[in-house]
Formats: sequence, C-alpha cells, structure tokens
Amino acid sequence: MICVMCRVADPEPGFATLTLECDGYTTVVNAVPAAICPECGEEYLDEAVVRRVLAAALAGE
Ligand SMILES: [Zn+2]
Repeated sequence: MICVMCRVADPEPGFATLTLECDGYTTVVNAVPAAICPECGEEYLDEAVVRRVLAAALAGE
C-alpha cells in the first residue's frame, strides 16, 4: 500500500500518538498501533483500534 499523501513510500508498522478532545478535555493516548509513512509521517490508524481506544477513553472518564 503506497502512502496516499506523498505517493512515495509504503507506510510501515509502528505506533502513533492519538489526541482525543471531548467536552474541553484533551486525552493523549500513546503507542496506538498504526502504519506510519517513513517519508511524510502520515499515520494510518486501524479503525477498529481507534474505536477501541475511544471506547476505553470514554469509559475511563
Ligand atoms: Zn507519505
């Protein structure tokens, strides 16, 4: 899968930082599994992972 942002490199497995904003609160979730483009840094998050992180963040507050 070629990166859709730069069309240069293939995103590689890595970890992203997800910032969630809800009702004026900001929650930062580190080490979210994602594919990262080594060329431009675009992050490709798995929708299922994002949903799980969101659910966990909402449940914890
Ligand atoms: Zn890229």
